[in-house]
Amino acid sequence: MAILFYHQGSTGPIWVEPLRAAAPDLEFRVWPEFGNPDEIEFAIVWHHIPGTLTQFKNLKAVMSLGAGVDHVVRDPDLPDVPIGRIVDDRLTAGMSEYAVLHVLWRFREMPVLAAQQAARHWEYREPPDAQSTTVGILGLGTIGQDIACKLAVFDFKIAGWSRSPKAIAGVQGYHGDDGLEAFLNACRFLVCVLPLTPETRGIINTQTLAALPPGAHLINIGRGPLVDDEALLAALATGHVASATLDVFNQEPLPADHPYWSHPNVTVTPHNAGDSLPEFVVPQILENIRAALSGRPLLNPVDRHRGY
Ligand code: NAP
Repeated sequence: MAILFYHQGSTGPIWVEPLRAAAPDLEFRVWPEFGNPDEIEFAIVWHHIPGTLTQFKNLKAVMSLGAGVDHVVRDPDLPDVPIGRIVDDRLTAGMSEYAVLHVLWRFREMPVLAAQQAARHWEYREPPDAQSTTVGILGLGTIGQDIACKLAVFDFKIAGWSRSPKAIAGVQGYHGDDGLEAFLNACRFLVCVLPLTPETRGIINTQTLAALPPGAHLINIGRGPLVDDEALLAALATGHVASATLDVFNQEPLPADHPYWSHPNVTVTPHNAGDSLPEFVVPQILENIRAALSGRPLLNPVDRHRGY
């Protein structure tokens, strides 16, 4: 019996030693040196090559080395086994930190004030009023709910949109396709933290951007393909969308010639809004390995048909 560690990203190497140190009784094999494929019973994956997991006939479960699972469920040949994902307080806190930082940065007009400072130009600007400003969270799951709580501390009006109805104190809830337009109509700030699924791909498009109030601000920390880039650039050009803060992109790394890089009203960050460190996450990976090997349900299971 062995565990496959299959990570196609730059941070893969930091995980293997902590996993081995925390579970000396388990054998971890690192892709592509997996030995006899029949011995692999559990796979920890990050952007595996679609189709390559079919060779592991005795696989009992797959776990995403991240909160998102779009990189797992996109595989049309994904073996029919349970799928788990990471839910990590530290990652969630990082995502909320990012959302709070960038909402406040735009709300308090820091780019304007920084330009005034650069020009040695003193001009009083009245501070805006949080109580009459709605921040909407697109996606009210683990991360979206934490962002909602943390932004509520500043007295913003908080709205949220999810697939199923939610009753969260202090959050005006909207749900489903029927609730989307009314939700967007209210949002001066829109924080997008949806998973990427067939339903959510391209959800930030010409029509949904038009439903925002003029001068709205977008922050996308979900996944890049949630956004139609042409539609967003057009809405920025008219000023209907005042700014976009983007951590995730249709193509990563963002190509050097992409218009986002130099757009005066776009902030680009390199997909680092939140991340997990081995010391916080290895225990839940081991718990899922042991659960899968003994036939128990996984922690933080994923519904492959919903796609998240
Ligand atoms: P989660 O707990 O699964 O929450 C997902 C939320 O999205 C839920 O509220 C869900 O509604 C809603 N949703 C999904 N599909 C929907 C649809 N078609 N219509 C309406 N609402 C829909 O996920 P999470 O842990 O909060 O993570 C969210 C995403 O953040 C991840 O999938 C990942 O893509 C992204 N992420 C990015 C970074 C980064 O560094 N930028 C880091 C971590 C995660 P229900 O509540 O009704 O199910």
